[in-house]
Amino acid sequence: MQKPLATGLTLALMTGMAPALAEESTAWRLFVADHTDPVVTALDVESGATVGQFQLAGPATLYATPSRAAVYAVQTAANQVAVITTGITVEDHGDHGDLKLEKPSLVDLPLTGERPVHLVEHDGHVAIFFDGVGATQLVEERDWLAGRLEPHEYSTSAPHHGVAVPIGSHLVISEPNAADPSALPIGVRVLDQDGQAVGGLHDCPDLHGEASSGDTLAIACAAGLLVIKDGDKAPSVELLPYSSELPAGKSTTLLGGVGMQYFLGNYGADKVTIIEPGAGTPFRLVSLPTRRVHFAVDPQRVRFAYVVTEDGDLHELDIIDGAITRTLKVTDPYSMDGEWSLPRPRIAVAGPDIVVTDPLKGVIHIVDAEGFELERDIAVEGRPFNIVAVGGSGEPAGHHHH
Ligand code: ZN
Repeated sequence: MQKPLATGLTLALMTGMAPALAEESTAWRLFVADHTDPVVTALDVESGATVGQFQLAGPATLYATPSRAAVYAVQTAANQVAVITTGITVEDHGDHGDLKLEKPSLVDLPLTGERPVHLVEHDGHVAIFFDGVGATQLVEERDWLAGRLEPHEYSTSAPHHGVAVPIGSHLVISEPNAADPSALPIGVRVLDQDGQAVGGLHDCPDLHGEASSGDTLAIACAAGLLVIKDGDKAPSVELLPYSSELPAGKSTTLLGGVGMQYFLGNYGADKVTIIEPGAGTPFRLVSLPTRRVHFAVDPQRVRFAYVVTEDGDLHELDIIDGAITRTLKVTDPYSMDGEWSLPRPRIAVAGPDIVVTDPLKGVIHIVDAEGFELERDIAVEGRPFNIVAVGGSGEPAGHHHH
């Protein structure tokens, strides 16, 4: 009965819920890490006001989770990970949500260990891989936010650039290359809660990149993607090989579609691939005009993802059509020549807005996703770099109309 593309407003009028909607308020916060300084700034998107600023031990890579409760700051060089409460709570009351806003705060309880890099969250379980020891610490988000940090450690046979992913009651963990642990991992093992291996090694040479979409986890390997689903007793693991029509290459960074099941991966410097396990054409390549700097999926307008390229352009990518639909100049060029760790733009999606950091200008560009136009800039001291957005809408807490 409902048209798939009906707007929220149309639906509201159709179902006679307009008065309830009128009371809804929306809040989006940006958490932005400086490129060089150990500081994270929390900003209100609407007003541009700073709502919090947190001093860390080292420059951070940031992760937000679907709970909207936490932002993780992985400080690789400082050998620790911090958690920041977002101050945003959307309570699910079934027929509506209640939105509560508080000040964000840094939980004074960092998780320490040698060289943390990849962090993966699933259903409130957070797995942080410490490359320097080749082990993962598994932490419960709810506990950590409440000031209880009781990590469970799962080790591998050698320090390596690895990853661990919680899936159901199991943990998928990378297997180091025994001949040369400084090389990429050669596969994954599935562990149970006691850390016991379930089944054997699943080959995945040159493992780098993982993402989840719906009930499916994908891990990128040299020859294709491991597609992993939770099962009755243990997760199932299957290789989806790259099609022979594809040019030589592989994905090393994956994103998972939200609200629509797909994966988006890099494929060479100036291409991305839209991946749909089980589809007739599981890999569709999209060429970019220049090299890719960063990309993000849109969790609300689910058929779109965004890519920023080194010429300073932001592209809207239609996942269904597999094509770039709109392009907007957002920054000066940021060449991909030189170290990968140089300050370059990063993208996040904050409800109706696409936000793009411009570290050399010291601003965040706010782009209206619907009109695909630059709305305004928010100035941030230093070099705003890694960014995540957290937000939602609901009735202001305390205003019940049951
Ligand atoms: Zn990595």
